[in-house]
Amino acid sequence: MRFDILTLFPGMFCGPFDESIIRRGRDKQLIDIALHNIRDYATDRHQVTDDAPYGGGAGMVMKVEPLAACIESVKSRQPASTIVMTSPQGRRLTHAVAAELALRPGLIIICGRYEGVDERIRDLFVEDDISLGDFVLSGGEIAAITIVDAVTRLIPGVLGSGESAETDSFCDGLLEYPQYTRPPEFRGLKVPEILLSGNHELIRKWRRRESLRKTRILRPDLLTGITLTKEDRKLLAELDHQDGATFI
Ligand code: SAH
Repeated sequence: MRFDILTLFPGMFCGPFDESIIRRGRDKQLIDIALHNIRDYATDRHQVTDDAPYGGGAGMVMKVEPLAACIESVKSRQPASTIVMTSPQGRRLTHAVAAELALRPGLIIICGRYEGVDERIRDLFVEDDISLGDFVLSGGEIAAITIVDAVTRLIPGVLGSGESAETDSFCDGLLEYPQYTRPPEFRGLKVPEILLSGNHELIRKWRRRESLRKTRILRPDLLTGITLTKEDRKLLAELDHQDGATFI
């Protein structure tokens, strides 16, 4: 999969794209990332990329011409890629959205700065608007890094055989069960006995039950969005019995 990132601050991507899983995806040539400095597309002597907002008010707005030239240049080389705007006004990035983006041949991600981007960029080019959540970042770079990370780990072959995105939180609509590693006891807290038992069926059931427990405590909204199996309902009834309360 191909990612083209349009930014005024390409230096912000050193580090996040050069380490760990994203690095591995690049090394295995499962993903390809190109950074484009929007400033290189400004044609005036001072390479200005922002200007005061029409109508007055604080801050600056990213100018339409350099960004339009940058988008057109990248899109002409990557015609199959989807043009994505990072914006607090976009649809929320969730597992489902990341999974949907992972099916596309490529993404051209625009990083806004200052008060944002001249609205005509959206009218002319943008095919998808993505937000990290209901808060305002100083720029789209961290949102672009987050999108690339969340999408990359879903691309087949990026995660090693020992790792898996399938049991991660949200994949099956629930939060992941609690994880433990050695030592078996730390400051009086013991790893649940069942995980040391080697009984795969009991471990599977325990994990499913704990996944349901965590989800209904921390994110009960997720439970309403999934179809519970007969076993899930039985496990929830067991939890009611243990926890002494009926949650759903
Ligand atoms: N004035 C704008 C915010 C601009 S913040 C408004 O009120 O809607 C500057 C840039 O940061 C945005 O153009 C966008 O690219 C990025 N950004 C800010 N918050 C974001 C969020 N929650 N998700 C994704 N990108 C965000």
